[in-house]
Amino acid sequence: MATFAILFLTLGIIIFNRFQNSTYHSIDQDIKNQVSTIKKQPNMKPDAGGPHGPNQSNNRPEPKAPFQTSMLVFDSEGKLLNKTSLGNRYSVLKKIKLNKKNLNTKQTLTIKNMNFRVLLIKVSKSNNNPMYAGHYVLIMQNIDTQIQSMENFEKILIMTFFIFWFIALILSYVLTRITMFPIIKSWKQQSEFVNDAAHELRTPLTIIQGKLEYMLTRPKNTIIDEAESISVSLDEVNRLNSLTNNLLILARADQATTKFNFQLTKPDLFIKDPIMPFKDIINSQEKVFQENVHHNVTLNIDRDKIKQVLIILLDNATKYTPENGTIRIYDNVEGSKYQFIISDTGIGIKDSDKKKIFGRFYRVDKSRNRNSGGHGLGLAIAQQIMNEHHGKIFVRDNLPQGSEFVVELPIKHSR
Ligand code: ADP
Repeated sequence: MATFAILFLTLGIIIFNRFQNSTYHSIDQDIKNQVSTIKKQPNMKPDAGGPHGPNQSNNRPEPKAPFQTSMLVFDSEGKLLNKTSLGNRYSVLKKIKLNKKNLNTKQTLTIKNMNFRVLLIKVSKSNNNPMYAGHYVLIMQNIDTQIQSMENFEKILIMTFFIFWFIALILSYVLTRITMFPIIKSWKQQSEFVNDAAHELRTPLTIIQGKLEYMLTRPKNTIIDEAESISVSLDEVNRLNSLTNNLLILARADQATTKFNFQLTKPDLFIKDPIMPFKDIINSQEKVFQENVHHNVTLNIDRDKIKQVLIILLDNATKYTPENGTIRIYDNVEGSKYQFIISDTGIGIKDSDKKKIFGRFYRVDKSRNRNSGGHGLGLAIAQQIMNEHHGKIFVRDNLPQGSEFVVELPIKHSR
């Protein structure tokens, strides 16, 4: 806003000065013309009348001055010689005295609210016009119109300055809000992220600290005696490990320091591997696993990163599906997109949570998820990976029960 104000002000001052200078320049040019007219008076007989004298018809020097110009002729004593030619202007101009110090200096005078640009010259004795010869001539140009237009111009400039300054004020406010919005948003997200991370770290640390302090109070006990405390502490250490790993993944992705190794590949090459261990786990938990992946397309992806997405989704499907449930993976081609879908008949996700679950640390049911080992970072990581692939990940309902996570990737070739 200040920059706008300074720019407008500078521009206004420059324009006004240019206008003022050119106005005075043209006035001074008129005066200069007058001077040269006086100095080149045609050869005429001496006459006491004066340029505007009443006896003009009798070969008196013709007044060449334009309407706004008056000329006062003084002798060297300061006596006004052309009173009569001034007519009713005399009442205004009589106050002016000869001041020889101002000889050849242009000045601006105000007399009775009238503004004049004046120049005093000394006419040489050899001048052909006896009216001027050897006298002082004060050329007075009325500049009321010019002053009026300068004042109007100044008013308009000041008005436009304030109007534009006000517009600039509104614009700067709007622009600042627009440009600051993503910064404020990411700043808020960062501080929320740090708060949540600290919170997540504190819980396992408190548990480990409690267990260690408890063991210290029983120095005689053997490892077998304290097996439960040790195993709980180890579980928490594992949680801490996976949490810090996930935090590191997200932090690296935020700083765009994660290196992606894109290569042309087929679905078989990144889907089969991660499925293997899950098949056994799922079957051992009395759940059903089905696989129906058959599309043969070429994708340009980082295979390891997409495997990571698949593991996150299979892990969630396993965690949130009760016994006798079914977990299924199948694929699909939609236009230029390849989709693989992990569907389950688990607890399902409410519509209001469908977007939120991709946010960092978001868990639908916090107490339940703590038991299942989740921190709410898995889907956030999957989302980051998909963004890097210019792909999509979203969730929809699996009817009649459970949810379906759809991973969509652009196809490079359809064979
Ligand atoms: P978490 O490590 O807690 O599983 P995620 O980011 O992977 O974190 O998931 C975020 C939340 O989304 C989970 O806490 C859970 O509430 C919900 N969620 C994810 N997958 C499923 C699913 N297959 N069925 C039901 N809820 C799910």
